[in-house]
Amino acid sequence: MPGAGSKVIVIGGGISGLSAAYDLTRAGADCTILEQQPRAGGVIETRVADGCTLECGPDSFLAAKPAAVALIKELGLGGDVIGSNDHQRTTYIWKHGKLVALPEGVMMIVPSRVMPMVKTPLLGWSTKIRMGLEYFRRPGESRDRSVSEFVADHFGQETVDYLAEPLLSGVYGGDPARMSVGAVLPRFLQMEAKYGSLVRGVLAGLGKGGPSGPLFQTLKSGLGALVDALASRVRITQAHAETIERSGNGFRLRADGNWMEADQVILACPAWAAAGLAAGLDSRLSELLAAIDYSSSLTLSLVYRAADFDGRRAGFGFLVPRIERERLAACTFVGTKFSHRVPDGRIVLRCFLGGIGDPGILDESDENVVKIAREELRRVLGLTAAPVSHVIARWPRSMAQYNLGHIQRVEEIRRRVKEIAGLHLAGNAYEGIGIPDCIQTGRAAAKAAQLTFAS
Ligand SMILES: Cc1cc2nc3c(=O)[nH]c(=O)nc-3n(C[C@H](O)[C@H](O)[C@H](O)COP(=O)(O)OP(=O)(O)OC[C@H]3O[C@@H](n4cnc5c(N)ncnc54)[C@H](O)[C@@H]3O)c2cc1C
Repeated sequence: MPGAGSKVIVIGGGISGLSAAYDLTRAGADCTILEQQPRAGGVIETRVADGCTLECGPDSFLAAKPAAVALIKELGLGGDVIGSNDHQRTTYIWKHGKLVALPEGVMMIVPSRVMPMVKTPLLGWSTKIRMGLEYFRRPGESRDRSVSEFVADHFGQETVDYLAEPLLSGVYGGDPARMSVGAVLPRFLQMEAKYGSLVRGVLAGLGKGGPSGPLFQTLKSGLGALVDALASRVRITQAHAETIERSGNGFRLRADGNWMEADQVILACPAWAAAGLAAGLDSRLSELLAAIDYSSSLTLSLVYRAADFDGRRAGFGFLVPRIERERLAACTFVGTKFSHRVPDGRIVLRCFLGGIGDPGILDESDENVVKIAREELRRVLGLTAAPVSHVIARWPRSMAQYNLGHIQRVEEIRRRVKEIAGLHLAGNAYEGIGIPDCIQTGRAAAKAAQLTFAS
């Protein structure tokens, strides 16, 4: 338990900082979040337009990672958790001018069922034969390498182009030729070491009765409800943190030109922002943080009158692989994926654009963004109807890239931070980009701060 008067400043009021401040405030610390925006939540933002609940950033979290639901339950929102409508789950991939359903039984990149794989037009025969032969691969040397190299090594380049790249693009907006498989798909690297074959690894796991239930979970009224619940329980000051210095056993911070003191500091802002703030504390730490790349993204939610909607309905939505992409990377049919979000009589398409290959989309005017998306939706879905309303959200430098060398870099970052008593890190740049990962880093930072006070 922190001592009376012990003061912690958390920089960044996204889900990572809010989770840290929530635990510290409950534990009796004098804790303040400095958040530069007038709104808490970072990239989590829910808006309502035309009776539809629209997610500007993330729309859900992986059910298999329990940290989000655990926090939601603590906040008394357990009754509002809903799952994705997985009985209607089909995701399509755009290939050679057609929408092709993702074959059943594919675990990210690994096939676990024979017939759907044999029948799918998503992959050619040479790839299918290669996937079959991969079953016989024996354990050998297993080392971290790029996602592209790893996937091509097991299943060929076509699997990189039509499975790995589009599926990972929705999560990181990144480039598989640069991403580290050990950081992004650690389970598959472990399978390779143990079984040699990923197919055999996945099949061995299937027998062990993994989690049942929906793949994704979210809140009925949107993830903004989680942010609101946390924000109402912590103290938040709107200010841009500019610099941090050591002061005795604690810290001096300048925010919006004003100096303040703190016994401990949690940097819960993106790594590139943390790099600037930490420069005066440890220049090597700052350099390591700055080396973590980020991609920028944009979401566009288009609301249609169902009666006007003349396009194809495509399950949960579709992904456009980079080799087929113009600007649109993915599109979700929101009302099909989740109940309670879209009233009868409306259809909402959520489009995802940007990523590492197209940061320029954020500079386009709203009018152009809608025009670009509508042209591509006409091509893919045959949709010509005009939306009745739309919401655009731009997220510059928001998705951390776990590129080659990430694991070693984060190890060194963690080692150096430990050397600066009272300094802690949280956020999506280190051990996971998803909401549950961020909650976990926030809560771990709060715990470390409490231990520092106790020592
Ligand atoms: C479009 C999009 C879709 C996504 N979809 C999903 C999904 O479906 N499921 C999922 O699990 N994850 C998803 N993610 C990832 C996940 O949402 C994020 O990784 C997570 O929310 C990041 O939280 P954070 O608190 O670490 O960072 P952020 O949300 O980026 O918050 C950091 C905060 O720090 C503040 N800040 C920065 N510098 C300073 C400073 N100097 N002074 C004061 N404040 C500062 C910023 O204003 C910001 O509010 C998505 C991300 C994006 C962008």
